[in-house]
Amino acid sequence: MYDQKIAEKHIKKLLKHYKIHVYQWSKSSCGKAYYKQKRIKIPHPTNVDRFAVCMHEIKHVIDGCGKFSFEDEFKADKFALEQIRELGFEGEKEWLSRMRWHVLSRIAMAHNRRLDHKNISDEIKEFFKDIDFSYWVGKKIFVSRDKENPNGYKLYASVNFTRKEIEVFLEKQNLVLEKSEIDDSTYGKWIVRELEKTFGIEFDNLSEVAEHFKFRP
Ligand SMILES: [Zn+2]
Repeated sequence: MYDQKIAEKHIKKLLKHYKIHVYQWSKSSCGKAYYKQKRIKIPHPTNVDRFAVCMHEIKHVIDGCGKFSFEDEFKADKFALEQIRELGFEGEKEWLSRMRWHVLSRIAMAHNRRLDHKNISDEIKEFFKDIDFSYWVGKKIFVSRDKENPNGYKLYASVNFTRKEIEVFLEKQNLVLEKSEIDDSTYGKWIVRELEKTFGIEFDNLSEVAEHFKFRP
């Protein structure tokens, strides 16, 4: 069960305790925190998700800004999760799913900007124990929200490699890679076909080819 009155009381208590000022009530369910000025923008806690957003922004002010933004986001989301649990609200599972997507997408952004994986804390690695971060090395990682997925997200890895490298890899399986120059619907697409065949499988780009044939550079 979710109780807005209890949520409002709890928010008020924390705001008072940490001397945080709400400079604006947000109409959507997102928030913002200026930790130095101790000012936040939060939604009215009309549901558990919005309540969690309030907790998230409050935690940003309590903690200030750390070294890594994904770590800040992890702490803020985790705090919100703990508060949901503490007050006995329903909706923990949904928040957890959102948290997994949200934090992982921030780690991926840091990774794409050359984050040294040593900087991912043990606690975060434990939280994502199903993720093999070593698989990320040498690839760009994109994480998008996917509510249908039990993990809460979809992960896409794009690999940096040359055309030659993947050609050699496919050759070993008696496959040929070609870029279609025929003036039809396949024009500009990548085609992978068996050596003696005329037709093959079409791909929009080399990343898709790599993914399909499980090519690892
Ligand atoms: Zn945040």
